[in-house]
Amino acid sequence: SVNISGIGKGFGADDVLKGIDLSIRPGEFLSLVGMSGCGKSTLLRIIAGLETADRGTISIGNRDVTEIDPADRNLAMVFQSYALYPHMTVRDNIATPLRMRRLPFFARLPLLGRVVAKAETLREIDASVRQAADVLQISHLLDRKPAQLSGGQRQRVALARALVRSPAAFLMDEPLSNLDAKLRAHMRGELSNLHDRLGATFIYVTHDQIEAMTMSDRIALMSEGRIEQLGTPDELYQAPATLTVARFIGTPS
Ligand code: ATP
Ligand code: MG
Repeated sequence: SVNISGIGKGFGADDVLKGIDLSIRPGEFLSLVGMSGCGKSTLLRIIAGLETADRGTISIGNRDVTEIDPADRNLAMVFQSYALYPHMTVRDNIATPLRMRRLPFFARLPLLGRVVAKAETLREIDASVRQAADVLQISHLLDRKPAQLSGGQRQRVALARALVRSPAAFLMDEPLSNLDAKLRAHMRGELSNLHDRLGATFIYVTHDQIEAMTMSDRIALMSEGRIEQLGTPDELYQAPATLTVARFIGTPS
């Protein structure tokens, strides 16, 4: 589980997060939604450790990670602009997080690594890459470069690169917003399948109420740095607690 307790954050005079409490269950798909500027990305970045909170704590499992480096939190972050390394093949893009973790510095570069790293470690990394590629159905694309892929295929490579690290939770910040409507609808289904298949915890930021309503176990609707309502899609739909929630869900107000 991921436990967020009393998280507050200001930028200058702006109070961006005003005391966020939220417990995400193991294996849960939780969407964070709300108006532009309400603090969704800031909260996600604080969970990831890319931003420090002014107050409050974050724990993952039973471990308090508030003071822990992002790399040691065992989380995978997938952003809107899923920056792949353009000069590397899909295979090497996916392998990079494992190389960083398992190989000494001089052996991390794909070509040099093939020469100096232990063969057994390289075989294990390769097996993990093939497994992640299989889950995301991109096994046939491993030798291509990112420029030779469609948007949805690039998205899947970015997900495979996150998956290969076996993270405790996936944090995603509008990962589908750069895709066209058709591909977005397709990837929505793929992400749901991936979630079911992995049984992993997903914290998913989106503007898109269809995404939130169809994919989530629960939705946390944020407004001006607070959580306005937390509940299942059904609960938010049937009993919106405030006008903001009703507007987001699209019920007549
Ligand atoms: P969007 O849906 O547009 O992505 P969001 O909910 O993700 O919005 P955040 O990016 O968390 O919003 O930003 C919340 C508020 O904090 C905004 O008013 C933003 O301008 C401000 N903010 C975010 N990062 C910084 C920063 N590094 N310095 C100053 N202000 C910031
Ligand atoms: Mg954002």
